[in-house]
Amino acid sequence: MTRKGDTAGAFSRSFTEPAPIPEEGIAAAVALMRSGRLHRYGDAGDDEPGEVALFEREFAAFVGARYCVALASGGYALSTALRALGVGPGDSVLCNAFTLAPVAGAIASVGAVPVYVGTSADLTIDLDDLAAKAGQARVLLLSHMRGHICDMDRLTEICARARVAVIEDCAHTMGATWNGRPSGRHGVIGCYSTQSYKHLDSGEGGLLVSDDADIAARAILLSGSYMHFGRHLAAPPAEAFAALRYEVPNVSGRMDNLRAAILRPQLRKLPERVEAWRSRYRVLEEGLRDAAGLVPVVQHPQAGFTGSSIQFLALDQPPEAIAALVAGCAARGVVLNWFGAPEPEGYTSRYDSWRFAPVPDLPESDRIIRATLDMRIPLAFSLADCAQVARIIREEAARAFGGAG
Ligand SMILES: *Cc1c(COP(=O)(O)O)cnc(C)c1O
Repeated sequence: MTRKGDTAGAFSRSFTEPAPIPEEGIAAAVALMRSGRLHRYGDAGDDEPGEVALFEREFAAFVGARYCVALASGGYALSTALRALGVGPGDSVLCNAFTLAPVAGAIASVGAVPVYVGTSADLTIDLDDLAAKAGQARVLLLSHMRGHICDMDRLTEICARARVAVIEDCAHTMGATWNGRPSGRHGVIGCYSTQSYKHLDSGEGGLLVSDDADIAARAILLSGSYMHFGRHLAAPPAEAFAALRYEVPNVSGRMDNLRAAILRPQLRKLPERVEAWRSRYRVLEEGLRDAAGLVPVVQHPQAGFTGSSIQFLALDQPPEAIAALVAGCAARGVVLNWFGAPEPEGYTSRYDSWRFAPVPDLPESDRIIRATLDMRIPLAFSLADCAQVARIIREEAARAFGGAG
């Protein structure tokens, strides 16, 4: 379909088709299936470390953490982190107002109550609002939403002063840095996801890292280690488990060797993938500069971001015009996700659709979330593809919001 003013044509590549598993991972998975050793603690007499234990050690080294445990999902990592910090029924937990449903869900899963902190126009947590609310809880579950990292120095200072422990939700920042330090290494715990639409793909999966021996021992026991914690390669020494092993409940949510086998080669490729995402992101960012009605979401200069998706705000545009932009792009093969759509759809990021928790009054955050448009950047796209996608969005924005394409 072409109309007057369309010069960029239509785009034909898929925005949602996952990347294949590297051949090395497929070979490791096949060998593992032949051996039948899928369980991380299977074959108790065997001294060979399994794929999960090896993956934990490699991931800990990748982010520079002392301890690491691999888990069933990113959301499970978040609830494990909360449990390991002793968060329980009736406690309040600070979190971003702009986040994904499993964050509020993890808080609810331990019987705690989210206290939402507003979002800034750069999609990071509003640090003034955080400073004002820090006294209301002893834990902050911080999401680096869509890969945007706030001023972590200021955040750390606010939380230290208020004695708030920080759990970093790095579902969108695996491979990213702040001031050169890996994302997930500024708080007491870092959590990551290996679900298909994040940065490593095992279908589902999660990771938790910490330098604190007590917290790591709790997390490992919570994950369902039984008395096999001695077979971990990124765990604290046995003393850390001496008393805890009788006290900490087994909330079974382990990772299996099959997933770890396909993740290990992907982890080795991650730095190269991050570079590839970044170069695509830069082409899109440049291509969307000064597009009609669209405000770019700027990355903080100290953030070494991953760029696996890009966001822009249709700030104060009428919902019908935003819907027209999304539909116009879709008709030309460009898939935009509108986080602020009036009815929650797909992966929801609107806190007012999580009615199990109290809904706060955050008008400025509502204004930003309502305007947020998001686009995935599949690595299968070439730089020329990205330039074409940007041109299509520009033309559709000019049509929906007026002004020059
Ligand atoms: C995906 C995601 C999670 C949860 O990860 P799963 O592995 O899908 O459970 C948590 N937080 C954010 C911000 C996410 O995008």
